Formats: sequence, structure tokens, C-alpha cells
Amino acid sequence: MRNLLLDQYATADIDQFVGRVLADPGNPDPPLKLADLRELLRLDKAFYSSTDDSAIREVVHNLRVAGQQVLARPTILKDVIGKLGLKALLLPDRRRILIDSAVPDLKQRWSEAHEIGHDLIPWHADTMLGDNKSTLTPSCHEQIEAEANYAAGQLLFLQHRFVEDVRSLSPNIESVKQLKDRYQNTIATTLWRYVEVNTGLVVGAISGHPHRPSSDFSPRNPLRYFIRSRAFASQFSGATEADVFAGMRAYCNDSAGGLLGHGEVRLFDNSGHAHLFQFETFFNRYEALTLGYYLRSPHSTVSVS
Ligand SMILES: [Zn+2]
Repeated sequence: MRNLLLDQYATADIDQFVGRVLADPGNPDPPLKLADLRELLRLDKAFYSSTDDSAIREVVHNLRVAGQQVLARPTILKDVIGKLGLKALLLPDRRRILIDSAVPDLKQRWSEAHEIGHDLIPWHADTMLGDNKSTLTPSCHEQIEAEANYAAGQLLFLQHRFVEDVRSLSPNIESVKQLKDRYQNTIATTLWRYVEVNTGLVVGAISGHPHRPSSDFSPRNPLRYFIRSRAFASQFSGATEADVFAGMRAYCNDSAGGLLGHGEVRLFDNSGHAHLFQFETFFNRYEALTLGYYLRSPHSTVSVS
């Protein structure tokens, strides 16, 4: 799956909404304290689980947009949540974020920021729950979700703070790990933001172990996420997940964890010219995180005098 690059007007608006809400506590240092932010926005947080769905039943009771069908059959909302694989949801009227308690802590942090994102983006207000959701086209829904994820990234990585930190560090996995600790987010979201804020030719990949395929591995879509910087997406629009994965397999070793290796990977630009990228892969025992950045054209020679 590729990262969806958002319209620059939408991102400029979202940057402003996030900027305003971060300015209130005085542009805090990382890591962002979500509890403070919720207090500022007068949002509270509750949990639901597959065994205790009282929080969801309470929602159903109050869900006016969804109409009679849901009120008549309270299990429907639960089915919908399950089917969409929702890990969290926002109830704007009740000023409440509901989070699936089965989600691990660092991922809950992302879910919570994502829901705060929906709350901050005014045009999301009537696309949130119930009927409206089913009438959204899949691509529109994808757009809304991408916007909320963008807002979550802006919040959790404190906008320009993270951009400055990325600029001050050399491009490698070690820097991504340092930033993960500083901002207290998952390594996957840190890698994601790291690639997206980069102005250079940079790619990221999140996948399974390149030599230990899981049961759901698909050679057609070998990566869970294929993250491209804007520059990379425009100049290497034909580079595929399969190209990246084949490159990873060539330099990665079979270790069960830690750094799996680094190596040069050849990718082709829009004009069909080959270029070399420096790649590096780290395996945290759940997912393999790969970072690649531009090295040189293979034809450029270094003269030695
Ligand atoms: Zn959402």
C-alpha cells in the first residue's frame, strides 16, 4: 500500500488547525502529552473491548444520525466497527474518543491523535458516523482518513520541531530510532513521518522479514507500506514495491532481530535511467523497517588522481 499524498491546500489548512492547538500550551517539547491536549479540547477518552461493549452500547443509544435501523438492532454498530476494523472512534457530540482496549499502548497513542485530528478538521464533522459513512465513496473515505492521519502525524511529531530534528540528523535507521525515543511514538509512524518530511529522494518500507515470509505474504504486494517522499514520488513514479523488496532480499540476512543489513539498491527514474540508493533494514521482531536514500547515478565515476 502506498502513502496517499494529500492536496497541498488541505495540508496547509490542517497545519493551521494543528498549529493553533499546539500554540495554546506554548509549543511544548516532545513527547506530546495527549491528556493535556484532550483537556484543552474538552474531549474525554473511554475504552471498549470485544468482551465489554457497554461503551459502544451507550453510543448506539445516542446515535441519532444512524437512524432507526441501528436503534432497532444495537449489534449493528458493533458489526460495523468490527468490519471496518476500527481501532478508535470519535463521538463529536459527546466530546468523547472511544479506543479499542486491545490495541497496544503506543498504537493507542496514534489512534487517539487520529481521532483528535477528525475533531480539529471542521469539514469532517458531518462525515463521521452512521449513514454518512456508508454514503461516502471509498476514495472519499480514504481521503478523510488520510487527512486525519496527517493531522495525527502533525500533532505527535510537533510540526516543524520534527522537521528540524530530521534535518540535523544523518539519514539512517539509527536517526529514526533516536526520534522514536524523543517523540515517544511507534518506530513505524516515526519512519513514516521521517520519509514524508524529507525534501530529498527518500523511500521507506514497512514489511515482514524479507527472508521469513508470514502466512499472509503476497509476492504482488510484498510491503505493508511503501512510503515515498514527494520528490521520490514525482521522479521515481514507476518504482514498485516489488523493486524495493527484491533489493531488500539481496542485502538482508536471516537474523531474527536487529539490523538485517544494508546495501545499494538500483531503482529507475521516470526516464528509465538507473540510480543507486543506499538502503538499510531493521527488524524489531514484528516488522521490518527499511530506509533508502539517494546515493548516485551508477554511471558517475569518481576520478582518482
Ligand atoms: Zn478516522
